[in-house]
Amino acid sequence: MKINFILILMSIIFFSCSKTNNIKEKNSMEKIISTEIIDETVKELELKFPESDRELLKRGVQLTGEFWLAEDGSPDDFKNFCINNYLQDKKLLMERFSKNLETVYGNFIRISTVMQFPVHVGNDPLLPVDEVFASWSPFARLNDDWFGNKLALVLHLNFPYYSLDERDEKGLQWSDAENAAVNLGLNFASRVPGKLQQAANEISTRSEMYISEYNIYMNNIVDENGKKYFPEDMRLISHWGLRDELKSNYADKSDTGILKQKLIYDLMLRIINQDIPQEFINAKGNDYCPVNNKFFKNGKETAFERENDRRYACLLDIFNAERAFDQYSPLYPDAIKRAFDQGLEMTFERVETIFTTFLSADVNAELAKLISKRLGRPLQAYDIWYDGFKTRGSISEDELTAKTAKLFPDAEALEKYLPQILQHLGFAKERADEICKHVAVDAARGSGHAMGAGIRGDVSRLRVRIPETGLNYNGFNVAMHEFGHNVEQTISLYNIDNYLNSGIPNTAFTEALAFIFQKRDLSVLGFDKNTGLDSELTTLDLYWGALEIMGVALVDMYAWKWMYANPDATPEQLKKAITDIAKDVWNRYFAPITGVENSPILAIYSHMISYPLYLAAYPVGHLIEFQLEQHLENKHFASEIDRIFSIGHRSPDTWMTKATGSKLSAKSFIKAAADAVKALQ
Ligand SMILES: [Zn+2]
Repeated sequence: MKINFILILMSIIFFSCSKTNNIKEKNSMEKIISTEIIDETVKELELKFPESDRELLKRGVQLTGEFWLAEDGSPDDFKNFCINNYLQDKKLLMERFSKNLETVYGNFIRISTVMQFPVHVGNDPLLPVDEVFASWSPFARLNDDWFGNKLALVLHLNFPYYSLDERDEKGLQWSDAENAAVNLGLNFASRVPGKLQQAANEISTRSEMYISEYNIYMNNIVDENGKKYFPEDMRLISHWGLRDELKSNYADKSDTGILKQKLIYDLMLRIINQDIPQEFINAKGNDYCPVNNKFFKNGKETAFERENDRRYACLLDIFNAERAFDQYSPLYPDAIKRAFDQGLEMTFERVETIFTTFLSADVNAELAKLISKRLGRPLQAYDIWYDGFKTRGSISEDELTAKTAKLFPDAEALEKYLPQILQHLGFAKERADEICKHVAVDAARGSGHAMGAGIRGDVSRLRVRIPETGLNYNGFNVAMHEFGHNVEQTISLYNIDNYLNSGIPNTAFTEALAFIFQKRDLSVLGFDKNTGLDSELTTLDLYWGALEIMGVALVDMYAWKWMYANPDATPEQLKKAITDIAKDVWNRYFAPITGVENSPILAIYSHMISYPLYLAAYPVGHLIEFQLEQHLENKHFASEIDRIFSIGHRSPDTWMTKATGSKLSAKSFIKAAADAVKALQ
């Protein structure tokens, strides 16, 4: 997981995405600049600056006209504004924006980091104000301010917008300065009013709360005979906790393991279908049998109210909020374009093609057969969560924890040790010290995350939960993942001359380095992981996981297409649509390899409700990881990491080509899986 600059910007752009249907906009995007005014303005500017690139000049004026509202002035004011603010030589203007945006973004991130500190770090009890401090964002009003004083309009006039296709096509030829100008033009891509943004934040928080309070008391789950299988104090969140419990039962080879898995699967179906009793959610005491949907109070079967489609009502609220943003976003006029073209910098269609190609690969059926053989039974729908490829070699987890707890009793010890980790991975001592100077470690309240800096001089933060008894092995594994993020965050900020080129194309790229670091955790601890078939098992574990999450991501993606095609749908209609979509994706890609038909299980993910349209980033991260790993083979790891993460913010294909010599594709990952299946057969 990673919280950083990009994520914070994205959270403004599309995560915190909601607004209720009934907030009607008074000051909507009322455009007053006609094509005639645009043409006149362009003509005058051409006379004034005969040397200027006509195409770019026109593009800048057009976009400025798109964003110009009645409140900004009359059409004549618009013309004068363009003539007075257009510069032929943009060097100094770009320097100003670069320096000032670094100051604004960097310090806003600093402020947010301080506001969120009690919620993210430590063990002290939280005050009620802590949540308010944490959810206040200095970014919320930035659009209002910079469009209001027309700085954002000066930016669009002088640094025209390039589409994703153009950036993919021309990116390799651009100099650093040209690329910086293009990146600058990507800022302020929508003019959503702060008030709307605030309303959206509230809906988003409400959906997150709905999900974060969706717990199931597992000891109250019974089978058809009233028998209980789960421990007294087990409280699991849907869907993550339920899924992880289902996974952990692969270790139990007895019939009980399978019974528990089936009960969890049935429970998930009841949640998708919303026939789970409302009273049973997040409440202890009464029993529920998900197999026959019967509810018991004091041991007696009782009638109940079902949850009644609230899950889908939440998603519709988010959809309506996003739709309200559409008119303020001329460059990305719907939520799908904002999530994909803008956020992921890959089109919906491109991601869809990559996923469907991956989901149709020949190796999938062989892998499914291998899993069925290892399980000694035909596959069930829930085996998309098969966990039997995980390996710790011959070292027990206790032995590993003994080592990590001793090495890392607290955050300070871990921070001190970071340069040694980099040296182990092949970085020279001096370079390791230099990178780690910009990384600080805090003891996290949650399981862990990494936060990048937005300004040179600030540090990126590695957060991981460190118990009183010292860091356990699981925590160290998380810390290695987060440290991968920190290394990316540091190189891609400090090793790049122009701030406007800093960063990476999107969050999937930083996830890739995080995965690469995480995989090397045992080697860093001095246990050589690459013995026997461990690396093949790890590949298959990741591959099977990628298949599952690509299926889930497709359901999320198609659900949004459906909502845009049916904007007046009721929650009940949306439920039916999503269930049908989930079954359709299942029947296309999972039924042929598992032999199970019509399962709607891919609709269970909670991200769909609390972080809509984000799931695609995870499997894309794994694709990048495998393409990088293949490139890194037989090369000097440290110097390549340094070189690759200094490429900066370019379009994904430009970045991948500069990094590995070829565009982003699923080939490496599929090939690695095919090799691994062969090795294991
Ligand atoms: Zn991560």
